[in-house]
Amino acid sequence: MKSKDLCKICTEYSADARCEHKKDCELQKILKENNKLRAENRTLRKKNDELETEKSWRDFPDMMGK
Ligand SMILES: [Zn+2]
Repeated sequence: MKSKDLCKICTEYSADARCEHKKDCELQKILKENNKLRAENRTLRKKNDELETEKSWRDFPDMMGK
């Protein structure tokens, strides 16, 4: 198997199919990286939301419950 090749399972079945070559399979690497990025994205977005909330509270202190 060339390093850039997908294993037979990932080529012939969907990406959700169980891959038996997780260590070498290019697709599994990509999927793993994807999940990681998605998780990071979620974290960043949540952080961003928190910052936005803080900012709006700072800009409009009257909107905070008194
Ligand atoms: Zn595979």
